[in-house]
Amino acid sequence: MDIGRQEIDRWHRERGWNGIGYHYVIRRDGRLENGRSLEEAGAHCKGHNKDSIGICLVGGIQDGTKEKAVNDYTGKQWETLKSIVLELKAKYPNARIVGHCDYEPKKTCPNFDVKEWAKNNIN
Ligand SMILES: [Zn+2]
Repeated sequence: MDIGRQEIDRWHRERGWNGIGYHYVIRRDGRLENGRSLEEAGAHCKGHNKDSIGICLVGGIQDGTKEKAVNDYTGKQWETLKSIVLELKAKYPNARIVGHCDYEPKKTCPNFDVKEWAKNNIN
């Protein structure tokens, strides 16, 4: 499903939040969209909203299902993810690069091993 910042912003407002909860959205075609400003706390990870930056990769759910988790990100998304994380890592050298599921064990997103990805792509 090709959605982006606008749709997510609407969903999150419908939940009564103050607009999109993520700081960045990476669309299926690799385009990077800005969500919430970095000066604002996110609304994406319970217990860590105030000390983390939330990047949302669009996808991760098998087509035709509502919630079957799958690692289906596109090549362009991986490229964009790498460049934005490298940029943020330069700005915040002590930041840990983790997935939502690393902090909220009941979650599976983003449906790949973020620490392993970071070890191979960042640093
Ligand atoms: Zn999540």
